[in-house]
Amino acid sequence: MHYLSTRDHTLRYTAAEAIKQGLSREGGLFLPETMPTLTKEQLKAMEGMSYQERAVEVMSLFLEDYSREELRSFADAAYSPERFDTPAVAPVHTLDATTHCLELWHGPTSAFKDMALQMLPHLLYASLKKTGEDKTVCILVATSGDTGKAALEGFKDVDHTKIMVFYPKNGVSEIQKLQMVTQEGDNVGVCSVIGNFDDAQTGVKRIFSDEKIREELLERGYFLSSANSINWGRVLPQIVYYVSVYCDLARAGKIKEGEKLNICVPTGNFGNILSAYYAQCMGVPIGKLICASNKNDVLTEFLRTGVYDRNRHFHTTMSPSMDILISSNLERLLYALSDGNDTEVRGYMEQLNTTGKYQVSDKIMEKIRALFWADSCSEEDTVSTIHRYYKEKNYLIDTHTAVAANVLEAYRAEMGDNGIAVFASTASPYKFCSHVLNAIGEEPVGDGVELIAQLQNATGVQAPWRLAVLGDKKVRFTQSTEKLAMEQVVLDYLK
Ligand SMILES: *Cc1c(COP(=O)(O)O)cnc(C)c1O
Repeated sequence: MHYLSTRDHTLRYTAAEAIKQGLSREGGLFLPETMPTLTKEQLKAMEGMSYQERAVEVMSLFLEDYSREELRSFADAAYSPERFDTPAVAPVHTLDATTHCLELWHGPTSAFKDMALQMLPHLLYASLKKTGEDKTVCILVATSGDTGKAALEGFKDVDHTKIMVFYPKNGVSEIQKLQMVTQEGDNVGVCSVIGNFDDAQTGVKRIFSDEKIREELLERGYFLSSANSINWGRVLPQIVYYVSVYCDLARAGKIKEGEKLNICVPTGNFGNILSAYYAQCMGVPIGKLICASNKNDVLTEFLRTGVYDRNRHFHTTMSPSMDILISSNLERLLYALSDGNDTEVRGYMEQLNTTGKYQVSDKIMEKIRALFWADSCSEEDTVSTIHRYYKEKNYLIDTHTAVAANVLEAYRAEMGDNGIAVFASTASPYKFCSHVLNAIGEEPVGDGVELIAQLQNATGVQAPWRLAVLGDKKVRFTQSTEKLAMEQVVLDYLK
């Protein structure tokens, strides 16, 4: 199977090349030329498998240039008991007969990014070998919090790779900062940027497009790559958990044969919900795809009206990983829904670039209406949802998960569809202690690790051990840079 680009479908790449390159050279995103499918019998057989085995089954359909043995060893390493705190890897928490929560935060950094970023380094390292690359890859990341730490944990001590993470000095939570500056590993670097997330991201983009730096680094034996969510190697591992959750519910008799599963996802860059769409394309009986946004409701408007308009106020919310105005992975959905019309997709993306706005065709809009439902959740409703889930259902959720739980309720109330539904839980409540404490009626005292202890004492819910011990860990990275000096930080790091 080959991979092509959303903006030029005459280009053909192997999976290894697509994963190594990340982004196609004309700016498009890679995707498989055909979507493989799972039969009912295959799905049935997967009910008896472990998460790791299911990952091999799904991924091998997309990665013909990787052997099953390779994929098996990657899955065992990525989703091992040392890294995930439950053997289920992505366990399902059942709230009532029709409502289930898929917990995607049991990995080393307590956010759903681990599901993909534990796998990507294995895929990338193998793709370097398969494409005859003899240089060391350096992953550059600008992070608003979750991605940076998950990428550091994923790439730590992986051969032939180095990673450098830039985070905004005053733009991440105390816990997120501690997670990064105490990172272990011999191939990792962390530096704060004096500025906001945009400054850090602009700096990283500038380094990527700087020919002089690229040449200099090539001479030193390095090339630059990115681990952001547009890499196919990040989307693919996410398809696995949507197949897996269906298998778990079927095995437990919680969903009957022929019954469909609605899925609600707290959405930012559109990577997570896109993976659910792909699982549906593969034949998993998925009903509505429910897209949940916070106050930044650009996707809600788009999925309801067909108009994507990024020219709007940017809100800083208590669910920061969803504070996004440009959802990059939407491009892959547009390609699929236009039946692979690369000219049409290119047109939309050019308009987005020049005017910040585009409107999709009626044909695409008709398909979107059949597949998706969307709504946004206010800050007040985020708080009250956390409160209600804790007091009434005895279930502690974080701010991102609360957005999904709330939008699922809105969908059911408005559409009268009370079918079986799963909402995705994308972060441990312990990553956002102060908001969660406030929501359950406790006054936060102190900051960072003190709040972890306070939340644990107040609720009796066990904190993930890696977060609980953060306060005892040695700070390894204290470097800070002006935004215009980020180039020099990279050059010094790759001496
Ligand atoms: C990244 C992230 C999201 C958004 O996921 P997308 O794939 O970008 O839509 C939601 N919640 C949390 C906690 C995240 O870290």
